Amino acid sequence: MIQDRVRTAEIAANLADVRTRIGAAAERSGRRPDDVLLVAVSKTHPIEDIVAAMAAGQRDFGENRLEELWTKVEQARSLHLDAIRWHMIGNIQSRKTRDAVGPFVLIHSIDRAKIAARLSRDAEAAGNVMRVLVEVNVSGEASKHGFTPDELLAQAGELLALPGIDVAGLMTMAPFEAEPEATRPVFRALRSLRERLADAYPAGDWNELSMGMTNDFEVAIEEGATIVRIGSAIFGSRNG
Ligand SMILES: *Cc1c(COP(=O)(O)O)cnc(C)c1O
Repeated sequence: MIQDRVRTAEIAANLADVRTRIGAAAERSGRRPDDVLLVAVSKTHPIEDIVAAMAAGQRDFGENRLEELWTKVEQARSLHLDAIRWHMIGNIQSRKTRDAVGPFVLIHSIDRAKIAARLSRDAEAAGNVMRVLVEVNVSGEASKHGFTPDELLAQAGELLALPGIDVAGLMTMAPFEAEPEATRPVFRALRSLRERLADAYPAGDWNELSMGMTNDFEVAIEEGATIVRIGSAIFGSRNG
Protein backbone atom coordinates (compact mmCIF):
# COMPACT_ATOMS: atom_id res chain seq x y z
CA MET A 1 0.00 0.00 0.00
CA ILE A 2 2.87 2.38 0.89
CA GLN A 3 4.59 1.09 -2.23
CA ASP A 4 1.49 1.89 -4.33
CA ARG A 5 1.39 5.44 -3.02
CA VAL A 6 5.02 5.98 -3.84
CA ARG A 7 4.48 4.62 -7.34
CA THR A 8 1.32 6.70 -7.84
CA ALA A 9 3.15 9.86 -6.76
CA GLU A 10 6.10 9.04 -9.01
CA ILE A 11 3.87 8.58 -12.07
CA ALA A 12 1.95 11.80 -11.27
CA ALA A 13 5.21 13.74 -10.98
CA ASN A 14 6.57 12.28 -14.22
CA LEU A 15 3.33 13.13 -16.03
CA ALA A 16 3.38 16.69 -14.72
CA ASP A 17 6.96 17.09 -15.93
CA VAL A 18 6.16 15.65 -19.38
CA ARG A 19 3.10 17.90 -19.70
CA THR A 20 5.16 20.97 -18.81
CA ARG A 21 7.73 20.08 -21.47
CA ILE A 22 4.98 19.39 -24.04
CA GLY A 23 3.41 22.77 -23.29
CA ALA A 24 6.70 24.63 -23.65
CA ALA A 25 7.53 22.90 -26.95
CA ALA A 26 3.99 23.58 -28.26
CA GLU A 27 4.43 27.25 -27.48
CA ARG A 28 7.78 27.31 -29.29
CA SER A 29 5.90 26.02 -32.36
CA GLY A 30 3.19 28.67 -32.02
CA ARG A 31 0.57 26.28 -30.68
CA ARG A 32 -1.27 25.71 -27.43
CA PRO A 33 -0.39 22.83 -25.08
CA ASP A 34 -3.81 21.26 -25.80
CA ASP A 35 -2.98 21.05 -29.50
CA VAL A 36 -0.67 18.10 -28.76
CA LEU A 37 -2.22 14.83 -27.61
CA LEU A 38 -0.15 12.83 -25.13
CA VAL A 39 -0.44 9.06 -25.53
CA ALA A 40 1.05 7.37 -22.46
CA VAL A 41 2.75 4.18 -23.65
CA SER A 42 2.00 1.59 -20.98
CA LYS A 43 3.47 -1.50 -22.66
CA THR A 44 5.04 -3.99 -20.20
CA HIS A 45 3.70 -1.97 -17.23
CA PRO A 46 0.82 -3.30 -15.09
CA ILE A 47 -2.75 -2.00 -15.07
CA GLU A 48 -2.03 -0.44 -11.64
CA ASP A 49 0.29 2.02 -13.37
CA ILE A 50 -2.51 2.96 -15.76
CA VAL A 51 -4.84 3.50 -12.80
CA ALA A 52 -2.20 5.79 -11.27
CA ALA A 53 -1.83 7.77 -14.49
CA MET A 54 -5.61 8.11 -14.79
CA ALA A 55 -5.74 9.50 -11.25
CA ALA A 56 -3.32 12.16 -12.54
CA GLY A 57 -5.71 13.00 -15.39
CA GLN A 58 -4.24 10.89 -18.22
CA ARG A 59 -6.83 9.33 -20.59
CA ASP A 60 -4.98 8.14 -23.72
CA PHE A 61 -2.85 5.00 -23.47
CA GLY A 62 -0.85 3.14 -26.11
CA GLU A 63 0.21 -0.48 -26.43
CA ASN A 64 2.35 -2.03 -29.15
CA ARG A 65 1.24 -5.68 -28.98
CA LEU A 66 -2.34 -6.76 -29.65
CA GLU A 67 -2.27 -9.53 -27.05
CA GLU A 68 -1.19 -7.19 -24.27
CA LEU A 69 -3.60 -4.52 -25.51
CA TRP A 70 -6.57 -6.89 -25.28
CA THR A 71 -5.50 -8.13 -21.84
CA LYS A 72 -5.45 -4.54 -20.62
CA VAL A 73 -8.75 -3.70 -22.32
CA GLU A 74 -10.33 -6.55 -20.33
CA GLN A 75 -8.63 -5.49 -17.09
CA ALA A 76 -9.73 -1.90 -17.60
CA ARG A 77 -13.30 -3.08 -18.22
CA SER A 78 -13.40 -5.07 -15.03
CA LEU A 79 -12.09 -2.05 -13.12
CA HIS A 80 -14.70 0.19 -14.83
CA LEU A 81 -12.06 2.53 -16.23
CA ASP A 82 -14.61 3.75 -18.77
CA ALA A 83 -12.85 7.02 -19.64
CA ILE A 84 -9.78 5.28 -21.04
CA ARG A 85 -8.92 5.76 -24.71
CA TRP A 86 -6.80 2.99 -26.24
CA HIS A 87 -4.26 3.44 -29.02
CA MET A 88 -2.58 0.60 -30.92
CA ILE A 89 0.91 1.85 -31.74
CA GLY A 90 2.75 -1.32 -32.80
CA ASN A 91 2.85 -3.18 -36.07
CA ILE A 92 0.18 -5.75 -36.87
CA GLN A 93 0.93 -9.13 -38.45
CA SER A 94 -1.20 -9.81 -41.51
CA ARG A 95 -2.85 -12.86 -39.93
CA LYS A 96 -3.76 -10.80 -36.84
CA THR A 97 -5.70 -7.95 -38.42
CA ARG A 98 -8.97 -9.29 -37.02
CA ASP A 99 -7.64 -8.68 -33.50
CA ALA A 100 -6.96 -5.05 -34.41
CA VAL A 101 -10.70 -4.43 -34.82
CA GLY A 102 -11.83 -3.33 -31.39
CA PRO A 103 -12.52 -0.44 -29.02
CA PHE A 104 -9.44 1.53 -30.04
CA VAL A 105 -9.58 5.25 -30.84
CA LEU A 106 -6.62 5.09 -33.22
CA ILE A 107 -4.27 2.57 -34.82
CA HIS A 108 -0.97 4.40 -35.44
CA SER A 109 0.91 1.78 -37.34
CA ILE A 110 -0.47 0.74 -40.75
CA ASP A 111 2.86 -0.09 -42.34
CA ARG A 112 1.90 -1.64 -45.70
CA ALA A 113 -0.97 -1.83 -48.17
CA LYS A 114 -1.70 -5.49 -47.37
CA ILE A 115 -2.31 -4.68 -43.69
CA ALA A 116 -4.58 -1.79 -44.64
CA ALA A 117 -6.64 -4.01 -46.98
CA ARG A 118 -6.98 -6.85 -44.47
CA LEU A 119 -7.84 -4.56 -41.59
CA SER A 120 -10.45 -2.83 -43.74
CA ARG A 121 -11.98 -6.18 -44.70
CA ASP A 122 -12.11 -7.37 -41.07
CA ALA A 123 -13.47 -4.05 -39.81
CA GLU A 124 -16.21 -4.07 -42.45
CA ALA A 125 -17.15 -7.63 -41.53
CA ALA A 126 -17.55 -6.47 -37.93
CA GLY A 127 -19.60 -3.44 -38.99
CA ASN A 128 -16.82 -1.13 -37.87
CA VAL A 129 -14.58 1.55 -39.34
CA MET A 130 -11.14 1.85 -37.73
CA ARG A 131 -9.44 5.24 -37.53
CA VAL A 132 -5.80 4.80 -38.55
CA LEU A 133 -2.50 6.52 -39.25
CA VAL A 134 -0.11 5.41 -41.96
CA GLU A 135 3.39 4.61 -40.72
CA VAL A 136 6.19 6.10 -42.78
CA ASN A 137 9.82 5.00 -42.81
CA VAL A 138 11.31 8.42 -43.39
CA SER A 139 14.88 7.53 -42.51
CA GLY A 140 14.95 4.56 -44.89
CA GLU A 141 16.52 2.29 -42.25
CA ALA A 142 15.96 -1.34 -43.20
CA SER A 143 15.02 -2.17 -39.60
CA LYS A 144 12.14 0.31 -39.58
CA HIS A 145 8.59 -0.47 -40.62
CA GLY A 146 6.44 1.64 -42.87
CA PHE A 147 5.87 3.00 -46.34
CA THR A 148 8.63 4.98 -47.94
CA PRO A 149 7.44 8.49 -48.83
CA ASP A 150 7.38 7.55 -52.54
CA GLU A 151 5.39 4.36 -51.92
CA LEU A 152 2.83 6.28 -49.92
CA LEU A 153 2.53 9.05 -52.52
CA ALA A 154 1.82 6.30 -55.09
CA GLN A 155 -0.51 4.18 -52.95
CA ALA A 156 -2.45 6.72 -50.87
CA GLY A 157 -5.43 6.62 -53.23
CA GLU A 158 -5.85 2.88 -52.63
CA LEU A 159 -5.75 3.39 -48.86
CA LEU A 160 -8.30 6.21 -48.95
CA ALA A 161 -10.69 4.03 -50.97
CA LEU A 162 -10.81 1.25 -48.35
CA PRO A 163 -14.23 1.35 -46.65
CA GLY A 164 -13.24 -0.19 -43.30
CA ILE A 165 -10.49 2.27 -42.41
CA ASP A 166 -10.49 6.02 -41.97
CA VAL A 167 -7.04 7.52 -42.58
CA ALA A 168 -6.38 10.47 -40.25
CA GLY A 169 -2.69 11.18 -40.86
CA LEU A 170 0.85 9.85 -40.52
CA MET A 171 3.13 8.28 -37.94
CA THR A 172 6.88 7.81 -37.82
CA MET A 173 9.61 6.60 -35.48
CA ALA A 174 12.92 8.41 -35.66
CA PRO A 175 16.11 6.43 -35.19
CA PHE A 176 17.47 6.70 -31.65
CA GLU A 177 19.98 9.53 -31.46
CA ALA A 178 22.14 10.41 -28.44
CA GLU A 179 21.55 14.03 -29.41
CA PRO A 180 17.75 14.51 -29.92
CA GLU A 181 18.35 17.50 -32.21
CA ALA A 182 19.67 15.02 -34.79
CA THR A 183 16.12 13.65 -35.26
CA ARG A 184 14.77 16.98 -36.52
CA PRO A 185 15.17 16.21 -40.27
CA VAL A 186 13.06 13.05 -39.87
CA PHE A 187 10.17 14.95 -38.29
CA ARG A 188 10.47 17.78 -40.77
CA ALA A 189 10.33 15.26 -43.62
CA LEU A 190 7.14 13.70 -42.24
CA ARG A 191 5.47 17.11 -42.06
CA SER A 192 6.51 17.94 -45.61
CA LEU A 193 5.21 14.56 -46.82
CA ARG A 194 1.90 15.41 -45.14
CA GLU A 195 1.77 18.63 -47.18
CA ARG A 196 2.48 16.78 -50.43
CA LEU A 197 -0.23 14.22 -49.64
CA ALA A 198 -2.74 16.93 -48.82
CA ASP A 199 -2.03 18.51 -52.22
CA ALA A 200 -2.12 15.25 -54.17
CA TYR A 201 -5.07 13.73 -52.27
CA PRO A 202 -7.16 16.64 -51.00
CA ALA A 203 -10.11 14.35 -50.26
CA GLY A 204 -8.04 12.68 -47.54
CA ASP A 205 -7.62 13.90 -43.98
CA TRP A 206 -3.88 14.11 -43.32
CA ASN A 207 -4.03 16.24 -40.18
CA GLU A 208 -2.53 14.01 -37.51
CA LEU A 209 1.24 13.66 -37.15
CA SER A 210 2.10 11.01 -34.52
CA MET A 211 5.80 11.55 -33.89
CA GLY A 212 8.05 11.90 -30.87
CA MET A 213 8.92 9.53 -28.01
CA THR A 214 10.73 9.98 -24.68
CA ASN A 215 14.05 10.81 -26.29
CA ASP A 216 12.88 13.26 -28.94
CA PHE A 217 9.32 14.49 -28.31
CA GLU A 218 10.22 18.14 -27.85
CA VAL A 219 11.92 18.29 -31.25
CA ALA A 220 8.94 16.46 -32.81
CA ILE A 221 6.48 18.97 -31.35
CA GLU A 222 8.58 21.89 -32.60
CA GLU A 223 8.28 20.27 -36.05
CA GLY A 224 4.49 19.95 -35.85
CA ALA A 225 3.63 16.71 -34.01
CA THR A 226 -0.06 16.59 -33.07
CA ILE A 227 0.37 13.34 -31.10
CA VAL A 228 3.36 12.18 -29.05
CA ARG A 229 3.80 8.61 -27.76
CA ILE A 230 5.70 8.61 -24.49
CA GLY A 231 6.54 5.59 -22.33
CA SER A 232 9.69 5.66 -20.24
CA ALA A 233 9.52 9.34 -19.24
CA ILE A 234 6.17 8.54 -17.56
CA PHE A 235 6.45 4.94 -16.35
CA GLY A 236 10.22 4.50 -16.06
CA SER A 237 12.47 2.14 -17.95
CA ARG A 238 11.08 -1.13 -19.26
CA ASN A 239 14.09 -3.37 -18.76
CA GLY A 240 14.67 -2.91 -15.07
C1 LIG B 1 7.52 1.90 -26.94
C2 LIG B 1 7.06 2.83 -27.99
C3 LIG B 1 7.00 4.22 -27.75
C4 LIG B 1 7.45 4.87 -26.45
O1 LIG B 1 8.82 4.77 -26.28
P1 LIG B 1 9.58 5.56 -25.09
O2 LIG B 1 10.95 5.76 -25.64
O3 LIG B 1 9.53 4.68 -23.89
O4 LIG B 1 8.87 6.84 -24.87
C5 LIG B 1 6.52 5.02 -28.77
N1 LIG B 1 6.11 4.51 -29.94
C6 LIG B 1 6.14 3.20 -30.21
C7 LIG B 1 5.67 2.71 -31.53
C8 LIG B 1 6.62 2.31 -29.24
O5 LIG B 1 6.65 0.99 -29.51
